[in-house]
Amino acid sequence: MKVVTSVLNGFRSFVVQLPRLHKILLLLAALILSGALVSPSSSAPERIRKSIELPLSLSDAEAAQALPAPEVLVAAGQDAEPEHEQSYIVRKGDTLSKIFEVFRIPQATMYKLLEADLDVLALDTIRPGHRLEFDFNDKQLLTRFTFKSGLTYKVVFSREKVGSFEVKEHIAKGQWRREVFAGEVHGSFHLSAKKAGTTLAEAYSITTLLKERVKFRRDARAGDKFQVVVSRQYVKDQPTGNSKVEGFRYQGKTRTLSAFLFNESYYDEKGRSLEKAFQRIPLKKRYRISSSFNPRRRHPITKKIRPHNGTDFPLRIGTPVLSAGDGVVSRVIRHRYAGLYIEIKHGYKYRTRYLHLSKALVRKGQKVSRGQRIALSGNSGRSTGPHLHYEFHINNRPVNPMTAKIPVVKTIASSKKGAFRQQVARQSKLMQQLQAEQAVARVAENDAP
Ligand SMILES: [Zn+2]
Repeated sequence: MKVVTSVLNGFRSFVVQLPRLHKILLLLAALILSGALVSPSSSAPERIRKSIELPLSLSDAEAAQALPAPEVLVAAGQDAEPEHEQSYIVRKGDTLSKIFEVFRIPQATMYKLLEADLDVLALDTIRPGHRLEFDFNDKQLLTRFTFKSGLTYKVVFSREKVGSFEVKEHIAKGQWRREVFAGEVHGSFHLSAKKAGTTLAEAYSITTLLKERVKFRRDARAGDKFQVVVSRQYVKDQPTGNSKVEGFRYQGKTRTLSAFLFNESYYDEKGRSLEKAFQRIPLKKRYRISSSFNPRRRHPITKKIRPHNGTDFPLRIGTPVLSAGDGVVSRVIRHRYAGLYIEIKHGYKYRTRYLHLSKALVRKGQKVSRGQRIALSGNSGRSTGPHLHYEFHINNRPVNPMTAKIPVVKTIASSKKGAFRQQVARQSKLMQQLQAEQAVARVAENDAP
């Protein structure tokens, strides 16, 4: 931690040299800043936090001019030994190895972390703004490494006695709050929905959900009415950006539509499923399975107990790999151990991963449909032989792809139909009320002189 320590020391001597009044003012500024950090109502804290993070490459002179982090000031003021924990906010252009180099973490340790990461594949997703935390022991040995993405996702790597790392994923549940919006189409549906109060992501999830039934660009007319019920996630009153559309109604000149989320699946108001099914195996035909999903497997190479989060199919290199369902490619990444791999998101609930590929046939962000060729199988990364490792995740947890309950349902069980009808009626009433109130508001606006 030489760099950060020298920044600290540099700052300490800078503070010592200051006249007393300046010290008090600085301390005051720090208190105001740290006050702003805990204020729940403002949306600024995240920005402030980022802007006061000390760049690692600063020289002492530059550091003296830079705005110090409040905790640094307090530590200097009390002359206390700084805690072992060091943190870093990822910046544009950073790579994991670059960051680790700055923190004087040996490459061998980074490989151990990447090895543990194979179970969660979190380290590939590091982007500017993400927070990394490092804990060292007295011998400057990395004992714990934490990766935080947003308000809800955290992965902790803890050093085991044998020199490898144990990995644990933490996903905060937060609170989900329901909100209702109503609006009229003027221009594109997406922008009209945004104007009504939804986010663009929510608007896109509606058009994606209904893409088999309607082409808004072609079918929407000015003046068409729509209502949306969304559930949004908050952690300590801060929106996390996670949300799901729970209900949607559309009264158009050419089309009427509806979609309701019930037991984690979408149906129209009559209870007909809006989802397409997955195919069980992401290959053209059924192949032999060489290793099954197993939460407690002894790894064939490392001999350690590690979960096997997927199903392995031994395949000749170059065998076409198909998307298991409709979705969007969320990752095409080369990982030291997973090799070239692809991840596809199928709505907010499901995702699939395809590891050890030889060639990707799709790019990140691309929409794919079930059965589409997305890659050629291979033997990349750490692998005992040419094979496809296939993972299926439900709500961010790997499940056995061969036995998991995946959507093939087309109707709601008759025992649940009553509950579904009640939910549709309740949400529809809310939507109609809001639409009527907005109509009244608009009339009032038009009457105004
Ligand atoms: Zn495998």
